[in-house]
Amino acid sequence: MKFDIEEDNFSSIRSLAAGGLSNIWGGGISPYNKEELSKIYSRQRMNIVERAYKKINSIIHEGNRLGFKTIDEYQATYPEIALNSACLSVFKNQNSNNSLRFTLPLNALCRTDAKEDYKKLQDSWMGDFKTLTIFNSRLLLEKIKKKHPESYIKNIYIESIKKIGDIYFIYCLNLLTNEKLLIKSKNVFCCLGVISTTKLVLEMEQKFNQKYQLLNTPAASFLSFCYSKKYIAGNFSLNNLSFEININNQVISGGFFPLTFNLFEKISINWMLPRIFKKILHRLIFSRVLIANVFFPSDFSENSINLTEENKIIIYGKNKSFEIKKLYSEILKMLKNNLTKEKIIVLPFLQKILRPGEDIHYGGTISNINENKNLCCIEDGSLVNNKNFYICDSSSMPYLSGKPHSFNAMVNAAVIAIEYLSKNETKY
Ligand SMILES: Cc1cc2nc3c(=O)[nH]c(=O)nc-3n(C[C@H](O)[C@H](O)[C@H](O)COP(=O)(O)OP(=O)(O)OC[C@H]3O[C@@H](n4cnc5c(N)ncnc54)[C@H](O)[C@@H]3O)c2cc1C
Repeated sequence: MKFDIEEDNFSSIRSLAAGGLSNIWGGGISPYNKEELSKIYSRQRMNIVERAYKKINSIIHEGNRLGFKTIDEYQATYPEIALNSACLSVFKNQNSNNSLRFTLPLNALCRTDAKEDYKKLQDSWMGDFKTLTIFNSRLLLEKIKKKHPESYIKNIYIESIKKIGDIYFIYCLNLLTNEKLLIKSKNVFCCLGVISTTKLVLEMEQKFNQKYQLLNTPAASFLSFCYSKKYIAGNFSLNNLSFEININNQVISGGFFPLTFNLFEKISINWMLPRIFKKILHRLIFSRVLIANVFFPSDFSENSINLTEENKIIIYGKNKSFEIKKLYSEILKMLKNNLTKEKIIVLPFLQKILRPGEDIHYGGTISNINENKNLCCIEDGSLVNNKNFYICDSSSMPYLSGKPHSFNAMVNAAVIAIEYLSKNETKY
């Protein structure tokens, strides 16, 4: 990372890592419901939001509907996936309860195109499936590169952006040759990940030494163990079971991931045991471990970000820890009611509330409902006082639900694009 960042009680993973977080994500999709969307968009925009949902769904996921009601439906869509038996039992035998609901997992899994063989473009850490791949932003970029090779410039790092009149001057550096490059444009769609976008915009707008909110979805995690004789680990290492809890009109959600042998090998790297013993240990014991995560909405986060005149980004992390702890113990109680009857115990140790930022879901710095009117977007994603400068990543989302938010960030970008295209102005 070329930016100078200081973090106080915040652990970020930055988007320059591995060429973008979208290249290494887990592909868990958690669409926002109508109520959550209404915290982001006005009623007039809901038609566009619906179109954007359908569009993104058609790109990243098999099947027309978002969500699986039955196991048969899931298996018809992904016949090669065998979900974990404990997760399936919890789903099938769940107590009907208005506030807690278990659902089958929803992942951005696409069939690979035999001609293009996109599978080569990424590490598939979901299991070994020949024709399935996790949707990855590179898939689309590769398509664009083929269709419009002139529209893509490789190895470019954007150092700063300046506005002169109606034109944006984008100062770039070629990371391989160290050559400088200046790109001039009348339209900018900024989607460099929340921390990069915020830094470049604060610098462009000369907003130094002022604190802006940085939303995240505070998270917790715990381990559980299934001791059922009929246990089958399955073959799918991503989320195998999702849950949603509705408390005081806030959605808190999470998922269960089986501990795969790959992950177990990483955890046990310092254990002086031959691999074959590790395999046996995993098979007998550790394959029965399920890792669960829980996400709280951004109302529980109180982080801030600011840029100093020396061009240093400072992030202060803060959770509403007291409220989170209280809710977390209620949630564990609700979950345990369902897990215990399927012979799954929640392990009392290794339960933890993550540090702010470790959830890897950031947003809200330059949103349309930003309290700090010094720097904000209007609802079409454009930066106030900056014609045709659009903030297309989750920096422009004023609220993050207690869910992994990437699907919704893609929808946010699509809403901005649909609206831009519908304007009666000459484009470019
Ligand atoms: C291990 C892991 C698992 C995850 N799992 C999930 C999940 O299951 N579900 C979910 O919803 N979310 C998940 N996430 C979060 C998800 O990856 C991010 O929310 C999402 O990818 C953010 O997308 P983005 O487009 O904003 O940023 P990115 O995907 O990071 O894209 C930003 C791009 O801009 C480039 N860039 C940045 N600064 C500059 C600059 N100055 N000049 C030039 N280029 C620049 C970056 O290199 C990158 O290519 C996960 C993240 C990780 C790390």
